[in-house]
Amino acid sequence: MSDATPKPPTRLAGLSLDLVAPAGGQSAPAASVASKQAAVDARVVIVGSGPAGMTAAIYAARANLEPIVLGGVVSGGQLMITSDVENYPGFPEGIGGPELMDLFRKQAERFGARLVNADVDRVDLGSRPFGLWAAGVEYRAQAVIVATGADAQWLGLESETRLRGHGVSACATCDGFFFRDKVVAVAGGGDSALEEALFLTRFASRVHLIHRRDELRGSKIMQDRARANPKIELHLRRTIAEVLGTEHVEGLRLAATDGSGEEILPIDGLFVAIGHKPNVAVFRDWLSTDEKGYLRIAGGTTASSIEGVFIAGDVDDSRYRQAVSAAGEGCRAAIDVERWLESQEG
Ligand code: NAP
Repeated sequence: MSDATPKPPTRLAGLSLDLVAPAGGQSAPAASVASKQAAVDARVVIVGSGPAGMTAAIYAARANLEPIVLGGVVSGGQLMITSDVENYPGFPEGIGGPELMDLFRKQAERFGARLVNADVDRVDLGSRPFGLWAAGVEYRAQAVIVATGADAQWLGLESETRLRGHGVSACATCDGFFFRDKVVAVAGGGDSALEEALFLTRFASRVHLIHRRDELRGSKIMQDRARANPKIELHLRRTIAEVLGTEHVEGLRLAATDGSGEEILPIDGLFVAIGHKPNVAVFRDWLSTDEKGYLRIAGGTTASSIEGVFIAGDVDDSRYRQAVSAAGEGCRAAIDVERWLESQEG
């Protein structure tokens, strides 16, 4: 289940990069710490440190590519705000999200990957070596893997943030299991919300679908399925004014959009399914995106629209969005990079 505790950004001012040395005591390049101007050269730079980025790092490091991972000020991706992961293969008892990401990191560092806890502010993918700037340091890379992920959209309520991981979630696949025989609500009216609501009927005794308009946005077939399911109750023209509960979710305060009043809906869990936003900001001007804003990959590989730049994980995947599928694509991206560099270097 998602963790309620928002991780405070620990943005490091200026040059104070948090450079994590690989196992064995080898330290990160001194130039990256000592001089704001000195560029750091790398054969491959991986942007993002979730399951896709760190799996790419493990594979690239084992291929002796000495990858540098620009992992973000808060590294680890979405699993860092997920307390229990029960569907990642190999952990029959489940594992905490941060603990799992710590294992990914240690595995990558064991083979020589270097993780830099800094956000990428700017890139230049116009010529090789590619330029990437993070916390005042320029990185020059022969190849780049973009694995920046996607973030769930939230309603923006204080009560929603406070109760995240205590009954508020954005992933029914991850957390639905915890709501066996409980009453839950899903916020949203698109295909994701309908899919989450249908999935949750496997566990919950009742699923309330809360949508702000009088018609659902999702596809007809999904609407028909949801309407036909006796466990799902539609609440149209309603917005969530507050998630109620102190220790855990106890209910919702719903407001009618025509201003006709409010009602209290007792529930045990809230699933917010109002869309995801891929983290493409610094790449938007360089790489092709699809109609939903996700980065495009060339069919069958992880190649982007720019030769030498590869893509992995949720930033190109609006469909599966699972840690294991992201990790799988990270592996593919590293193999694509290795083969591409080989073809370049003869
Ligand atoms: P979406 O289609 O953009 O729908 C988002 C829904 O959330 C809309 O109903 C929207 O309301 C509502 N919403 C947005 N912001 C809100 C807010 N602040 N407060 C309350 N409600 C809010 O996103 P999605 O459902 O994640 O789907 C994304 C894409 O993936 C779509 O193309 C979808 O078809 C596809 N998808 C397909 C499947 C499938 O085929 N099985 C499954 C999942 C997703 P309004 O309608 O009023 O704008």
